[in-house]
Amino acid sequence: METIRKLSEEYAGYLRDESRNSGTAEGIAFPLGTEDVVSLMKECHGKGVRVTVQGARTGLAAAAVPDGGVIMNLSRMNRVLGMRFDGKTYYVTVEPGLSLLEFRKMLSTKRFDSSCFSEESREVYARFAKDGEFFFSPDPTEATASIGGMAACNASGARTYRYGPTRPYIEALTMVLADGRVLREKRGGDRAEGLKARFVCDDGSAIEAELPTLVMPKVKNASGYFVEPDMELIDLLIGSDGSLGAFTEIELRLQPLPSFIWGVSLLFEDEASALDFTLGIQKEEGYAALEFFDSDALDILRSQKKKGAAFAALPEIPPRVSSVIYTEIHADSEEEALERLFTLGSAFEKAGGREEDSWIARDGSELDRLIFFRHAIPESVNMLIDQKRKSGLNITKMSSDMSVPSGELKNVMAMYRSTIKELGLKSAAWGHIGNNHVHFNILPDSEEQYAASKELFKRWAAWVSAHGGAVSAEHGVGKLKADFLTVMYGEEHIDEMRRLKRLFDPKWQLGAGNMFSEKEGI
Ligand SMILES: Cc1cc2nc3c(=O)[nH]c(=O)nc-3n(C[C@H](O)[C@H](O)[C@H](O)COP(=O)(O)OP(=O)(O)OC[C@H]3O[C@@H](n4cnc5c(N)ncnc54)[C@H](O)[C@@H]3O)c2cc1C
Repeated sequence: METIRKLSEEYAGYLRDESRNSGTAEGIAFPLGTEDVVSLMKECHGKGVRVTVQGARTGLAAAAVPDGGVIMNLSRMNRVLGMRFDGKTYYVTVEPGLSLLEFRKMLSTKRFDSSCFSEESREVYARFAKDGEFFFSPDPTEATASIGGMAACNASGARTYRYGPTRPYIEALTMVLADGRVLREKRGGDRAEGLKARFVCDDGSAIEAELPTLVMPKVKNASGYFVEPDMELIDLLIGSDGSLGAFTEIELRLQPLPSFIWGVSLLFEDEASALDFTLGIQKEEGYAALEFFDSDALDILRSQKKKGAAFAALPEIPPRVSSVIYTEIHADSEEEALERLFTLGSAFEKAGGREEDSWIARDGSELDRLIFFRHAIPESVNMLIDQKRKSGLNITKMSSDMSVPSGELKNVMAMYRSTIKELGLKSAAWGHIGNNHVHFNILPDSEEQYAASKELFKRWAAWVSAHGGAVSAEHGVGKLKADFLTVMYGEEHIDEMRRLKRLFDPKWQLGAGNMFSEKEGI
């Protein structure tokens, strides 16, 4: 049975996540199964100690950064527990610490360690091995993310444009509460009646909850708890940012892999044309991703390519190019894929594009190169921030994660540009433009600029909230965007969320500081 270890220097890395923020903790534990998590939670509950659940710490909102107490790191719970087939598709049950990267490898090679499988699961596995190809569509760019972290953040990624975020691909969840009780919810299982919800734990005890009355905007959204009348109860747990419990078993739904996956990058000489193209192509179906890179992001890539072997594989971007749109065609026949390519070509031409300014990837290695292009940008910006920190600047990553309705895309881009210019800041922007969700990253040169950009993000949060958008579209709110969540929903709805959390976690032990702070009397 895993015990709580003292947080010695050896574990210092666990005080941080990819947001480059750092916290404090007295102890750390690496449970190996649900029973370990139950026993550790009971111990912490008895002592009234805070618990921060961690996956792979790739989060960008400091949600996995501890605020005192004990770190419960689930990265060693990474087994595949079983498989199921419903006549159409396959379902795989995994432990939360399994990385997306490993899971993808298992799916593409069809090789699972089946030592934990029941006889029934083994039969399904044998069938799966002989069947066609299947995939798990959620794809946060950082594939070292854990499946548990993805479920807790309702992570998205480029392919969310077509397939949606992680939520719809989670069929069942086992969650351990702060007091060690175990709750299991599945899709097609318990639902709320209006806003009244009843969660029944394994020991028969129940949590009777009044769900918040907020109305979620109709945009890509990972801000606060997911709530709507008559909702499936599992959906409240997904996206709960480590604040309601620790997921210990997760059943994932697979989909048949499209037979043709082509990547297409389109190069634009001006941003306005790239935006016009986006708004036009958003009306067409069949594209799995629609990603954007602005001129500053492209400049960073150009300089990375010059500098280092690690980035040598990046394609050459002609100097006249100021924006790139990357899109993916997923089709079941070559004819269908060609038809989509043709539609794309016509829309590109209409937006002033030229044939020689398109890169088309039709096989795996070419596609990997374009995907590497996408991944290289956030990686490079992280490296730039690290360099600035090493040279003595006390700053962290400043990346926006806001989405707006389609009708506001041009307005929000103009608003970002004018406010960045007003403050004389440097930035780089990229991301999921198909979902009207572009990450603007500020690159401060001084601590004054860093402070100014923090204020700027608050202004952006107010603008986006007032225009029907979300302050966090995919990374979750964590600790860094708690203020923005209040701007988006208002204090009354935040109090409703606080009441809900209190029912699951009466001593306010889990994920302290994530989404909203504790408030006396609630
Ligand atoms: C370069 C880069 C690119 C990225 N791109 C994207 C992107 O395109 N889309 C996107 O959505 N995200 C993106 N991310 C953010 C990040 O990868 C995702 O948020 C991911 O889902 C976090 O998973 P994790 O395992 O690292 O979680 P962690 O960072 O360890 O934790 C995140 C939150 O999940 C909670 N948590 C973790 N495991 C569990 C569990 N088992 N039970 C309950 N709560 C748990 C934690 O308490 C915390 O609140 C990117 C990150 C990087 C570094």
